[in-house]
Amino acid sequence: MHALTEQQLRRSFINCSQGEAKALALPKDFAVLDWAELELLGWRDPKAPLRGYLVLEAPGGPVGVAVRAADTRMSPRKTVMCLLCQSARSGDAVSLFTARRTGAAGRNGDTVGTYMCADLGCAHRVRTEIPPWLQDRDPAEVAAERAAELRQRVHGFVDAVRR
Ligand SMILES: [Zn+2]
Repeated sequence: MHALTEQQLRRSFINCSQGEAKALALPKDFAVLDWAELELLGWRDPKAPLRGYLVLEAPGGPVGVAVRAADTRMSPRKTVMCLLCQSARSGDAVSLFTARRTGAAGRNGDTVGTYMCADLGCAHRVRTEIPPWLQDRDPAEVAAERAAELRQRVHGFVDAVRR
């Protein structure tokens, strides 16, 4: 994605108040992010333990979605798939996140949820962690495919938030 300024980033949020968007804590490596390597920017709020954010590029400009992690953790002995980057991880490294929907639905408390990497580091993971069944293929090609799939799934999630 293209680099965003702090202001563009804060203005991109579609499902939280302006006040919340102004107050949210930026990713700690914001100043040195390698934007070109990111399909989306995802991070947990260091000051608000259950909160997280996803920002991606859409045709009309950047779109940010605030998400909330479930306060119960899954067992580390279980293997759970992140539904965004499709990495199989231990249960405690994946969390159910919900996002308040936009508009009237959101005001009525309607949310959409999905399982994501607890650290929201999916964009990094699709390029660095190649699943065993894909390891005999060209790593660059696999990473590009996984990145494209991630982009598609995140857009699907954002569409559900907006619908
Ligand atoms: Zn993931």
